[in-house]
Amino acid sequence: MSTGKGLIFLGPPGSGKGTQAQQLSKEFNIPHISTGEMLREAIAQQTPLGQKAQTYVDQGELVPDDLLLDLIEDRLNQEDAQEGWILDGFPRNVSQAEFLDKLLHKLDKFSPQAINLDVPDEVIIDRLLLRGRKDDNKETIRRRLDVYREKTQPVLDYYRQHDKLSSIDGNRELQEVTTSLKEVVT
Ligand code: ADP
Repeated sequence: MSTGKGLIFLGPPGSGKGTQAQQLSKEFNIPHISTGEMLREAIAQQTPLGQKAQTYVDQGELVPDDLLLDLIEDRLNQEDAQEGWILDGFPRNVSQAEFLDKLLHKLDKFSPQAINLDVPDEVIIDRLLLRGRKDDNKETIRRRLDVYREKTQPVLDYYRQHDKLSSIDGNRELQEVTTSLKEVVT
C-alpha cells in the first residue's frame, strides 16, 4: 500500500466540490478527476459515450453505472494518477462506491478519504442559478437535488460506516473552506 492521497469529494451539486478540488489538486499536485467534466467533454465531442450519456445529464438523472465504471477505471490507471487523485462526482451511488473499493483493493493503492462539503439547499439553489450551466435550470436543479438525496446521501453513510468520512461546513468563503479541507486531509 503506497502513501498517496485518494480524496473523494462528496456534497450536493453546487457545494463547491469542483472549485475546492481544483485548489487542492494544485496544492497536493494530484489530478482532479471530475466525472461530470469528463461526461460534458464526451457530450461536446459526441463520442459514443457522450451520445449515450446526453439525455441523462440534460435531465439531471444519473448516467447508468456501466458507462461510468470503465471510464473511472481507465482514468485511475493513468500515469498521473498513481500517487493520488481527487474524485469529484464519483462515487454517486452505493454500487459505484463498492466498485471503487474493489478497484482500489485490486490496484493495491491507498485507502481513500471521503470529505463531505455540507451546504444547505437554499444556498445551493441560488449558487447553481448564478452559475448557469446548461443543466442549471430550476427544474433540473430540483431533480439533481432529489437524486442526490436518494442516491448519493447513502454514499455518505457508506463511508461513515467504514470510518472514512469527514464533514466540513461548505457554506463559507472559498478560502476558509480550502483551509478547513487542508486541515482534515490526512
Ligand atoms: P453537479 O455536482 O453540479 O451535479 P457534475 O458535473 O458532478 O455536477 O455532474 C453533472 C451530471 O453528470 C450529473 O447530473 C449526472 O447526470 C452526470 N454524472 C456525473 N458523475 C456521475 C456519476 N458518477 N454517475 C452517474 N452520473 C454522473
